[in-house]
Order: sequence, then C-alpha cells, then structure tokens
Amino acid sequence: MTRTLITNGTIIGADGRTAGDVLVDGETVAAILAPGQASALGITAAGSDVRTIDAAGKYVIPGGVDVHTHMQLPFGGTEASDTFETGTIAAAWGGVTTIVDFAVQKAGEDVIESLGAWHDKAAGNCAIDYGFHQIIGGVDENSLKAMTYLVDNEGITSFKLFMAYPGVFYADDGQILRAMQNAGESGAVIMMHAENGIAIDVLVAQSLARGDTDPRFHSLTRPAELEGEATNRAIQLAKVAGNVPLYIVHMSASEALEEVAEARHKGQNVFAETCPQYLYLSLEDHLAQPGFEGAKWVCSTPLRTKHEHHHADLWKGLRMNELAVVSTDHCPFCMKDQKELGVGNFSAIPNGIGGVEHRMELIYQGVVNGELSLERWVETCCTTPARMFGMYPKKGVIAPGADADIVVWDPNSTTRIGVNDKHHMNMDHSAYEGFEIDGKVDTVMSRGAVVMENDTFHGRAGHGQYVKRGLSQYLV
Ligand SMILES: [Zn+2]
Repeated sequence: MTRTLITNGTIIGADGRTAGDVLVDGETVAAILAPGQASALGITAAGSDVRTIDAAGKYVIPGGVDVHTHMQLPFGGTEASDTFETGTIAAAWGGVTTIVDFAVQKAGEDVIESLGAWHDKAAGNCAIDYGFHQIIGGVDENSLKAMTYLVDNEGITSFKLFMAYPGVFYADDGQILRAMQNAGESGAVIMMHAENGIAIDVLVAQSLARGDTDPRFHSLTRPAELEGEATNRAIQLAKVAGNVPLYIVHMSASEALEEVAEARHKGQNVFAETCPQYLYLSLEDHLAQPGFEGAKWVCSTPLRTKHEHHHADLWKGLRMNELAVVSTDHCPFCMKDQKELGVGNFSAIPNGIGGVEHRMELIYQGVVNGELSLERWVETCCTTPARMFGMYPKKGVIAPGADADIVVWDPNSTTRIGVNDKHHMNMDHSAYEGFEIDGKVDTVMSRGAVVMENDTFHGRAGHGQYVKRGLSQYLV
C-alpha cells in the first residue's frame, strides 16, 4: 500500500484549524500527526515508502462534496452538455471529490428502471466518487413503494419533488404530502424545487403574448414571492406529514430564506442550500445583457435583482446556518445549438448554469471578502453536505478512517475563471467569465489517489465509485 504524508499545512475542518500532517494509507486517512511527529516516528526517514506532499503555507481541507449536479440531464429537447466523465473531471479540477447527481423518474416511468439508466450513464465513467438522489416526477402507488425500496436497498435516501414545471415534473400538494408521509416512514429526506409553477406558467404565457421574449423575462416571470410562497407551502406540508425532513434546493430569494429561518426557529427539520450563482450574479448584470447573451444565465430558480437584498441575505443565511449547504445545481448547456433553442422565446431556453468546477473557489472568495470564516467554507461545501445526505464520516472530514479525499488549497495564489483561463467543463462559455479568485486549488486527492496536481489532471474516468448513502445525519 502506498502511503502519503501531507505535511506542514494548516488543516481546516468545520470545527477549527490545526497545524499538522495528514498520513494517508491506501484509500483512507490513517492519522493526523502533530508537527514533528512524523519524523519522530520515522515516517519521513530516507528509504521509507512514504510519499510527501509539502503543504507549507497552504490549507488542507476535506474534498468538496457537491450534492446537486445534473450530468447528461435530458431537458427541453436537449441534454446537459457534461457527461459523467467530463463533469467529474471538471469537478476534480475544482477540488470536488464527491458529487450527488439526480436520477430522473418521469410520470409513468418505473423508478427502479430510471435509476438503472442513471447507473448505466455513470458507471465506469466518473473520475471521482458519486451518489444519486432520485427525482420522483410521478407520485403514485408504484413510485411510493419504490422510494422505500431505494432507501432500504440502493443507498438512495433523498427524493426530489417539483412544485414547478407543470406537465413535466410537477407534483400537486396531495402528491407531495403522500411522498412526504412515505419519506417519514423510511427516514428519507424530501428535496424540493420550491416555486409555484402553476402561477409561473400564467405569467410566462402573458409575457410571451406581450412580445416580452428576451432572456431577462425568465426572471421577471418567476417572482421571488412565488419562491417564498412555495417554500412556505412545502414547509407546512412537511410539518403536517410529521416533521418530515425537508431540504429546499437552489434557494435564490430573501422571501424563501425567511420562511426557512422561521421554520428552523420553530425546531422543524427544514434545511436549504444556495448556489454560487445566487450569491454573485444578478438579473441586471447578467440575465439582462443585450440580445440573447443573457441566455447563459437562464436557470431556475432565476437570478434575482441586485436592487433588493437577496445577495446579502443569502450570505447572511450561510453565516447563520439558515442555509446549511452550498451546491452548484451544475446543469451546463452550450450557447450553440442548446441555449439557442430559445432565441425569440425565453421559455424554450434550457434551464441551467455550469458551475461544478468553481464552487470551492467562489465560496472561498466569500472568505476573503469577509462573508464567511474558513471553517464555515469547509462546513458548507464539504462537511454538512456529507452529513445531510448520509455520507459522513467517510466523506466531508479529514479524520482517521475517512476516505482520503483531500484538497490542498493555496491561499497565496490566484485563479482566473474563463473559457481561455481555468475552464474544464464541456461548455462554450463560462457563467463566471473573467472572475478573479484570491486562492487556488493546488492538489486534489480522491480516495488516496492524486487526481490533480501542478495544474495537471492525473486521474482517470472509472476511478470514481458509487457511494451508497445512509440516512441523513443532520436532523434536529
Ligand atoms: Zn437541479
């Protein structure tokens, strides 16, 4: 077995920072050693089999865990442009060592067969470890039974429902309640896309009829109130179902955050994530760019106006743990042939932004900007996602026995994001073109194997293994 010593660095965990060395043996962390202990034990002696990675002046953190990605997702007549191979390689470049993607069941489809289709796409193709949530697009007796089966047998302990997209993934309140009751029995978490899709569809039709077809109308027809309303409704349904764990995905609006904060204050098992796009990008500066440019930033929930206080509130929510997790909702589409499907009709633009490569960088910039502590960066991007979705302490922490998923982070270097700079996702543009980050992914280790080092990818498709997840370890 190969052993590796990551030495001289500062180890950052959700619970603090320490100077020390991390000893990796095979695929797992063997020990955390105090400075000098490795040489006292002879681990670094000449002739020993230990490879050394010098992390002097750098941070040593758990590998990133991105619990919201959509590789190869069929959407709006096309398919998300990253395969499990290209998307997980880009993730590795960004210091991410685990993704949880979404298997999709549509109404009328068999849940277990749909999961099989996602396993077929991912197996043997991932550069880092991966798990699945299951989307239930059609709640009925069969899919309810399948939910229990997946929890008990397949390591899938979270199910996503949609209050948006009528006719596609939409579940009505009765279906949502039934799925929540089912989750309450099996211990699963319900993930919710919380936007009032019925009302949104009316606004979209009215906008198109007026000739308001540019990309910016995507946001103007999905008002923050309808995210807040749906979030509240999901919270009440989860309460009625018996305080069933509820996790609101991709939160973008202050109105929704207030609902989650209030439910948490009352002791309900309600959690939420946001994504970098909602912390940094806006309706005015991105989605409303002239012509069709704004299509790059069409995603749901939408980017919000910078003239209200959504950005500041979401950062505050992250500090206060009203928002527990940062994920990306990575769902990349190229402009050419994909986003272009919506020229002249914003509602036909495939919804999604690619970001799996940049989450660690963008949230670290929040640390530099004084929004978050180093520990909170690690907690929201690595540790809590692992705990929330039943992968801890195998993932999300550097501790003896944990998988050796480790990132060495260089705070003294910089990263420039852009198609001609750092950009490994399979996209013809970057949502973060020109962003300068005060820090850099230096080295990435996935289960003991160095997959990225010296600005070179050393991993391989097929290294990544399926992670069977347990129940959430984050409940109150
Ligand atoms: Zn999504």
